[in-house]
Amino acid sequence: MGYEVKGVVARSKGAPVTIETILVPDPGPGEAVVDIQACGVCHTDLHYREGGINDDYPFLLGHEAAGTVAAVGEGVTNVAVGDYVVLNWRAVCGQCRACLKGEPKYCFATHNAAQKMTLADGTELSPALGIGAFAEKTLVHSGQCTKVDPAAKPEAAGLLGCGVMAGVGAAINTGAVQRGESVAVFGCGGVGDAAIAGAKLAGATTIIAVDISDTKLEWATTFGATHTVNSKETDAVEAIKALTGGFGVDVARSTRSATPPSSSRPSTPATWPDGS
Ligand SMILES: [Zn+2]
Ligand SMILES: [Zn+2]
Repeated sequence: MGYEVKGVVARSKGAPVTIETILVPDPGPGEAVVDIQACGVCHTDLHYREGGINDDYPFLLGHEAAGTVAAVGEGVTNVAVGDYVVLNWRAVCGQCRACLKGEPKYCFATHNAAQKMTLADGTELSPALGIGAFAEKTLVHSGQCTKVDPAAKPEAAGLLGCGVMAGVGAAINTGAVQRGESVAVFGCGGVGDAAIAGAKLAGATTIIAVDISDTKLEWATTFGATHTVNSKETDAVEAIKALTGGFGVDVARSTRSATPPSSSRPSTPATWPDGS
């Protein structure tokens, strides 16, 4: 049985992606099939196509999505058919050393579907970040489905699955921004704007957005930036010093790609579980 749907596949390193027929199996124990309503385009999908993640071609791209649960396998209790969900690529186990320490963001045993989606000829696909949502339907572990308010538009809600959590997490978890601190964010795309929003949530009072696009700097102010610096026109370091009494900011973050974000504070250098 299963489903035959269309999906966006990267077949080999650097080659243009193609739209292929893919076979999505019926969900097995603990799995769910989700009808995808919207999926963001993240830089990490390009990294996959370029061979920057690994060589497990062909990849089924897409990993920042929202949709509706179409079917669930045996033993699934956290979601049911018809639930509106965001897909997340770090479905934490709740039982490993990191999870038990109260740091699920570093979970060592995140859940993915056990079965494989395939091309029509049976070739197994590697779903990007264990999701593969540039497709009409995808197969995931049920733990990768997070129910959200159906009032949220799918094209916005899906962003919670990667860019928003990467940016907000960089500010709140990795950078550990504290109330009253000053923060600089370099690069104000989706992840950078989410880092700005996260810094605001954490109570930062000086949030300096740095970019080379005035349009993006304008957007950054709507997410909570208190100051903007166009680093094409102004020396960013000098501008940041001038805005912080000569000291520089407490936390600085630069955006190169959503996965994984880099963030640092002077006294406690941040690291990611994969060592990057
Ligand atoms: Zn992403
Ligand atoms: Zn865990």
